[in-house]
Amino acid sequence: MIIAVDGPTASGKGTIAAALAAHFGLPFLDTGLLYRAVGRQVFLEQGNPDDGSDALAACSFPEALLADPHLRSEETGGLASRVSVHQGVRAALFDRQRAFATQAGGAVLDGRDIGTVIAPDADVKLFVTASAAARAERRWREMQARGSTATLAEIEADIRRRDARDMARADAPLRPAPDALILDTSALGKDEAIASAIAAVDAACRFRPHTPTPRPRT
Ligand code: C5P
Repeated sequence: MIIAVDGPTASGKGTIAAALAAHFGLPFLDTGLLYRAVGRQVFLEQGNPDDGSDALAACSFPEALLADPHLRSEETGGLASRVSVHQGVRAALFDRQRAFATQAGGAVLDGRDIGTVIAPDADVKLFVTASAAARAERRWREMQARGSTATLAEIEADIRRRDARDMARADAPLRPAPDALILDTSALGKDEAIASAIAAVDAACRFRPHTPTPRPRT
């Protein structure tokens, strides 16, 4: 059972994907973290994230980098969005993601191209989205709690920039797979969004009699 969760920045897809993994007892991969590690590695090597060969060289980042708290910063998110436009970077990260998706027993992956490129054969595809204003407000609240002084307007502008870059790139642009279920979380609280996603997976499993229904963790 492969569950693909895609969507733009701050849509709630990461929270939803992690909750689905916990509910159905499946391993979970946040694929954005891989692109963030590449972005961070380019920075550490003083390379140029817009240069394809610098970005490709950074794909051999050390595994320990995945635990670096700097990966979660807005700056690294911006770098990740820039390195992820390079076809070589996407190809270099493909095998690792595909192997995770196809492991025995299934998996949940979240990202931008899971349902379209990494696992077009996924049993359930969710595209989690929300208005740019709702996503900016969520991100602003999180950042305020962490002591950031960034304004709501700055955060919304950054989100719109990253959306535009992710949607416009030639290779694996951010877009829902034709068979994805769209989950708009603009007006949903966290618990409601998670409950809707679990219901969507349950419903998809009922309509696919040959797909083993994932076992909820007790
Ligand atoms: O999801 P997250 O915000 O951590 O992703 C950071 C950036 O990595 C995204 O803006 C996107 O450009 C890139 N990304 C991608 N494909 C994925 C996951 C992330 O291009 N599967």
